[in-house]
Amino acid sequence: MFVITGPSGVGKGTLIRGLLERMPELELSVSATTRPPRAGERDGVDYHFLTPDEFERHVRQGDFVEHATYSGNRYGTLRSQLERHLDAGRPVVLEIEVQGARQVRQALPEAVAVFIAPPSRDALRARLVGRGTDSPEQVQERMDTAEGELAARPEFAHVVVNDRLERATEALEAIIRAARGARAKHTCR
Ligand code: ADP
Ligand code: 5GP
Repeated sequence: MFVITGPSGVGKGTLIRGLLERMPELELSVSATTRPPRAGERDGVDYHFLTPDEFERHVRQGDFVEHATYSGNRYGTLRSQLERHLDAGRPVVLEIEVQGARQVRQALPEAVAVFIAPPSRDALRARLVGRGTDSPEQVQERMDTAEGELAARPEFAHVVVNDRLERATEALEAIIRAARGARAKHTCR
């Protein structure tokens, strides 16, 4: 299992799209969220869009591997999503924020986590603004949250700076392939 984390707007989703093209054997886990869908987002594809009550019911039932509140909305990884892929023997990628990545580290220490860092704070802001999905207030809120998230970088053994997309995608692919190779070797022994 692979966890890709880092501040919003750093390019996690973009990098993962490139990674899945290069490694189609990977499965991306579809998260649940209470955030309203953005234009073009599809339920069950981009996220499972839940009401706050539905989300809370899953929390109470212990259905989440990890969950967190981010910018006023809740996000979480449903155990059922993960197990569907892991039971089929497929490697799974989670794209989650830092609080969730910490919970996964506690619950599943064998998961390989990669922190995606921006080349600079200015570049991060420019990407959030350029994506065009957030109001100026939401961009500021995400930048404020990013301060704490950037401070978490030393917690992660693997860090990829998303400067040039092609180079960063290659670096991420190399980490995943090396981890998969190490796991296969270990299993063969
Ligand atoms: P995240 O999933 O981390 O929130 P996104 O993948 O949505 O981030 O990327 C945020 C914005 O930054 C998008 O508009 C994307 O096209 C752009 N972006 C991603 N990687 C790079 C890069 N290496 N250089 C420039 N822009 C990038
Ligand atoms: P966005 O609103 O931009 O889609 O996501 C906001 C933040 O929540 C991003 O950093 C994204 O990676 C994170 N996120 C998405 N799904 C999950 C999840 O299942 N769990 C956690 N903890 N964070 C998530």
